[in-house]
Amino acid sequence: QGNILRAQGKDWHPNCFKCTQCAIPLKPDNFYEKNGKPYCEDDYHKLFSPKCGGCLFPITDGQIVNAMGKPWHPLCFKCTECAIPLTPPHFREKNGKPYCERDYNRLFAPPCHGCSLPITDPSTMVKAMGKNWHPQCFHCYECHRPLTPSNFMEKNGKPYCEDDYHKLFSPKCSECLLPIRGTPLVAMGRQWHPNCFKCYQCGIPLSPNNFKEKDGKPYCNKHFQEMFLPKCYGCKLPIADKVLTALGHNWHPDCFCCAVCHKPLGSEGYREKDGLPYCDFDYHALFSPKCGACQAPIREVCVH
Ligand SMILES: [Zn+2]
Ligand SMILES: [Zn+2]
Ligand SMILES: [Zn+2]
Ligand SMILES: [Zn+2]
Ligand SMILES: [Zn+2]
Ligand SMILES: [Zn+2]
Ligand SMILES: [Zn+2]
Ligand SMILES: [Zn+2]
Repeated sequence: QGNILRAQGKDWHPNCFKCTQCAIPLKPDNFYEKNGKPYCEDDYHKLFSPKCGGCLFPITDGQIVNAMGKPWHPLCFKCTECAIPLTPPHFREKNGKPYCERDYNRLFAPPCHGCSLPITDPSTMVKAMGKNWHPQCFHCYECHRPLTPSNFMEKNGKPYCEDDYHKLFSPKCSECLLPIRGTPLVAMGRQWHPNCFKCYQCGIPLSPNNFKEKDGKPYCNKHFQEMFLPKCYGCKLPIADKVLTALGHNWHPDCFCCAVCHKPLGSEGYREKDGLPYCDFDYHALFSPKCGACQAPIREVCVH
C-alpha cells in the first residue's frame, strides 16, 4: 500500500516516521540515525555533532580543527585580533583566545630592554636589573660576551662582565696599572693593590702607616736610611735626625768626639790634628810645648 513507509528495516505510517527531537516528518532517504532513533539533519547535528569553539554551531562536515582543547570550524579558528585563519600548532593563546604570532607578540610579549623587540619565548626570558631581556641581548656592554643574571656587574644602567667592569671603572693600581678589584690601599695620595705597595728597593710589602717616600717611590725604613740618609763618618751608620758637619764630613752629634777622651765636641770649638778632632784639653796635652818648670802645656803658643 502507498501509505506504508519503509525505513530502518521496518514499516511505518508516513506520519509516524519523524524526528525523535522535533517530530518533523522524515523522508526515508533523508534522515539521520543515532542509537536506532531517527533525527532530522538539524537536530542530529545539534544533539550529536561537535560544537565549534568559535561560533558555537555544530561542525557538520567533519572538517575539524582541534586546538585549545576544543573543536573548531577551520574558518572559525582565527586570530582574535586580525581574523587571519590559524593552523595549529602555529598560534598563540592568551586568556583562552587564539592569536597569530605577530599580534600576540605585539599585544602581550614583553619588549626586550636590549633590542626593544618582543620576547616571544617567555621561558628563555632573562630578568636582570629590573628589566626583561632576550638571553642573547643580555650581554656585556663592552665585550658583548653573554651574561647571566647571577653573574654580572652594573654601571649606569648597563651590564658588564666582571673583567670589563673592573677595567673600565675600578681604580688602577699606581704600581702595576691593573684594576684594583678589592679595597685599594691608599698611600702617597695614590691607590695600590696591597701587594703592590712595597719597598722600591727590596720589594717587602709596606704598611701605609709605616714607610718612607723618596722621589714618589715608597721604601722600607731600612732601605730609605741606607740609600738616602747621610752616613756618619764616625760609626758609618745613617743619620736620621740631627746632622753635625765637621772636618768635611757628616756625623751623629754623639759620634763627633775627642779622639782621646771621647767627649762629644759640637761643631764649634774643637781642635784638629792630622784629620782627628780633639777637645781643647787633650789637644794641648798632646801637641802643645810643655813648660820646662811645671810640665804643663803652654797653651798660648799657636801651633799653626
Ligand atoms: Zn564555527
Ligand atoms: Zn592576528
Ligand atoms: Zn633583545
Ligand atoms: Zn665584557
Ligand atoms: Zn698592582
Ligand atoms: Zn727595603
Ligand atoms: Zn755615628
Ligand atoms: Zn779630650
